Amino acid sequence: MTTPEISIVIPVYNEEENLPLLAAEIHGAMRPLGRPYEVIYVDDGSTDGSPGVLAELAREDPAVRVIRQRRNAGQTAALDAGFRFARGGIVVTLDADLQNDPADIPRLLAAMDGYDVVSGVRKNRRDTWVRKASSRIANRVRNRLTHDNVTDVGCTLRACRAEVLRSVPLFTGMHRFLPTLLAMAGARKTEIPVNHRPRLHGQPKYNISNRLWRALADLFAVRWMQKRWIDRR
Ligand code: UDP
Ligand code: MG
Repeated sequence: MTTPEISIVIPVYNEEENLPLLAAEIHGAMRPLGRPYEVIYVDDGSTDGSPGVLAELAREDPAVRVIRQRRNAGQTAALDAGFRFARGGIVVTLDADLQNDPADIPRLLAAMDGYDVVSGVRKNRRDTWVRKASSRIANRVRNRLTHDNVTDVGCTLRACRAEVLRSVPLFTGMHRFLPTLLAMAGARKTEIPVNHRPRLHGQPKYNISNRLWRALADLFAVRWMQKRWIDRR
């Protein structure tokens, strides 16, 4: 098999019903491009039928690879494992719950010319108003404190150059600050509007109480990292 040019990394925690459709949509979006790719599903210690569904997907398609975390270690840990495993020069990330639309991936890749990171900005976001309002406030506070201008940091649909991705230290919770960390490492970044869909199957994994205080503590950690960053350029 040819070495993949593009690695699609997907964290999975109890998403059994979403996975078959997600896999079909990814292949529908990627095949026409004619560029070698792999899809890395990182099972973050799922306790539902996700491991069985992933094993079946890997059996059906040689482009699919599955990593299993021994226990639920969180979305950043799952992404980090996927980044280490990825062979492509470009890494695309998206959620497993079908809220991100794989049909946007070709546009993300096309926008990579001259950039290291292309982040999606969710248009017509399909979440409850509480989630939308809280993430709008969080986004504003984050940008203010980290002197950044990320429009929608909660959108995990992104394309990044692998070497840039591997140049920043990751800790639990840092997926919420990834564009800012990448900018700290000198990444040239841009944004494009992407589609967003309601979650039809499975449970959302976050709510205000398990997100707010941690994200606030992480914000100060990121601020510290920015101040102490060693610029090797
Ligand atoms: N996820 C994960 N480990 C966790 C929590 C979530 O791998 O501990 C995955 C989840 O399966 C999904 C993505 O991370 O693919 C985002 O989770 P979710 O859709 O619940 O978050 P939100 O829509 O609130 O960003
Ligand atoms: Mg979601």
